[in-house]
This record gives sequence, structure tokens and C-alpha cells, in this order.
Amino acid sequence: MYRIWVEISLDRIAANYHAVRQVVGPGVLVAPVLKADAYRHGSVEVAHRLQEEGAQWVAVSNAEEGVVLRESGIRMRILVMGDFLPYERDALAEYMLTPVVHSLDRLRALDGFAASLGRKLTCHVKIDTGMGRLGIRAAHEATAEAVLAVRHLSVEGLMTHFASASDFSTNQTANQLEDFEAVARVLTAVGLQPPLQHLGSSAVVSYGMQRAFGTMVRPGLAIYGYVAPSKGDAPPLSLQVEPALTWKSRLVEIKEVPPGAQVGYGATWTAGRRTRLGVVAAGYADGIPHAVSNRGCVLVGGRRAPVIGAVSMDLITVDLTGLPGGNVGEEVTLLGRSGTVKWDADDIAAAAGTINYTVLCGIGNRVKRVYS
Ligand SMILES: *Cc1c(COP(=O)(O)O)cnc(C)c1O
Repeated sequence: MYRIWVEISLDRIAANYHAVRQVVGPGVLVAPVLKADAYRHGSVEVAHRLQEEGAQWVAVSNAEEGVVLRESGIRMRILVMGDFLPYERDALAEYMLTPVVHSLDRLRALDGFAASLGRKLTCHVKIDTGMGRLGIRAAHEATAEAVLAVRHLSVEGLMTHFASASDFSTNQTANQLEDFEAVARVLTAVGLQPPLQHLGSSAVVSYGMQRAFGTMVRPGLAIYGYVAPSKGDAPPLSLQVEPALTWKSRLVEIKEVPPGAQVGYGATWTAGRRTRLGVVAAGYADGIPHAVSNRGCVLVGGRRAPVIGAVSMDLITVDLTGLPGGNVGEEVTLLGRSGTVKWDADDIAAAAGTINYTVLCGIGNRVKRVYS
């Protein structure tokens, strides 16, 4: 018995992975993104299940995340997407992680490092086609020259990342795609054709943007059962996925307060009538956004109970007035489904004025994990 926990369906994650596989077809690899502890679904557990399902690649943000997976017995290829500093190169080599290189200087430096090891290392190269974050931003010819010049690296992949993939009101994605195709052509012209060309994350798969599939896709959010909301004139969804995570806690106290009673820090809520309050063992230390104060809800016995007052560190208060049941110790659903009612990461994000990613990634360390 726990006070606060998540229930994660690995079957659901497997089904979402196969749904992605189905959309991209047999010629395209799928590298599920397991960074940030698999968006808090647990990277080791998720990786092992994906390995059993036949996945050949996964992607993480940094070397440390890759080392955790390797040490847990993962044999799949592991792409390290979030750049690395010189002190992280030993771990990359030792644990057979595949780094992405983000500048021509770093490419030459990694080549020198591989030479010093007396070993050939494999890497991918990322082009900044407009995201303006990581990636090579050089003339395509200079990129081709630098890749041609390395002696101890095998450049297996060429990648980029879209800034606005689910925004169909801008042509940024089309421009980025053109830029990527242009650099690929320049490389091909000098005899370089990295076999793995990957551009797209979940949005590209969700909206069936085939031209951007390349030979590999890197979905994160979709694997966990969500779709990035679109802007503009979006094509119909190509992908059907369902959330794999349900977040639960318990009612630790129930009491009645009279009209005029105030609730929580700052007394931001005042009872307009006799109110049955429930105190739930979940707070911002667990990842409940403070911004859902007086805005969110939890599900109790298939009904919505509104959050009243400010979210505090360890507790939230909800209004149980008129709801059946609601006993001390009873389960409440913080995120998920209860009966026919849904309150998922999209709903919490809308209430908190944020994005579904931060709701999932915000689930705290104190929250236990139960797998099914
Ligand atoms: C996080 C990330 C992804 C996955 O993005 P989703 O929107 O969760 O699918 C893919 N590629 C890169 C480079 C990333 O940083």
C-alpha cells in the first residue's frame, strides 16, 4: 500500500510502440526516446520491454542515462542526443553508446579521441536546420568536408530536429526539411550516405508526415500514449495511442466545514456552503503543478472532485460535497481514468497553463511505481 504511486502498463507501451511501427512501415526504424527516465515511466523497465518487443534502438539525452540502461542489461543501440562534454567521452566509448555530434569542432575532437583510444567510434551528426539549439550550423560544403576528413569515426547517422512539427500554420517544418535534404544531397555528392537519416519525433508520426520519416524516427511522447496538440490546419491523426500511466493517491482526511471557512495557504478559497473537504496525499513535491490551485481536479469513484485552495508541498484539498463515497484511505486518481471520466496529462496541462510533457516529467521521486 502506498500513499502516492503511478501504475504503468508496459503492455500499453508495447502497443503504442507497435502502433508507431505500423504507421512508419517496415522500412523505417523506430528509436523510442527514453530520456528523463522515460518521461517518468521508468527507463529501465520500459527499455527492457521494448527490447523484448524487438526494438533495435532507443534514444536518451545524456551519457549517464545511457550508462544506466547498459548496466541494466540493455543490448539495443543507444543514441545519446543531448550533446556531451569531454569528460563524458570515456563513458560513451566504454558503454558502447552512440553520441550525436553537434559541431564541426566537436567532430574533429571526437575523431582525435577515437584515435587516442586506437578504436573506431560510431556517431551521428546533427544539423541545425532551424531549431537554433543543438546542431551544426555551417555551410553544407564545410560539413561535408569535415565528415570526409575524419579517420577514426564512422558517421552512421545524419539527423535534425523540428521546432514546430505539430504547428501547421507555419512553413518552418517544410523549410527545415528542405535544408536537411539539401545537406544530405551535398554529402551524397561527395560519396557520404549515412544509412540512418532521422528527423522526426512523435508529431511527425502522429500526423503521418511521411516525407520526414527518413530511415528512422524518434518518438517519445507517442510511446507514452500522448499526441502533441496541433495548431493550424492539421491533417487527420495517423496514429492511435493511449496513455500508459495512471497516477494515484489516497484521501488521508475528510471533514465538513461551514460556509465562510477558508482553505489552504493564502486562504485563496472560501466555502460558499457547508463543504465536505477531502485532503489528498499529493502536493507539488510529488509533481502536482502549483498552477492547478483552485483549477484542477482529482477523480474519486468515477467523479471529478475540484481542487480547492492552493496546492501545498505534500497535500491538496478537494471538494467532495455531493459525491458518493469518499472514505479515509480511499484511492483517488490524480491523472488517468476513473469509471467513464478522464483527467489526463492534457487536462492537467490545460488547467495549469503548461504542456503535457511537463506534467509527465514533473512526477516526483517520492511517487512509487507499480508495473502491470
Ligand atoms: C525529446 C526528443 C525527441 C522526442 O520528442 P517527442 O515529442 O517526445 O516525441 C526526439 N528527438 C529529440 C532530439 C529530442 O530531444
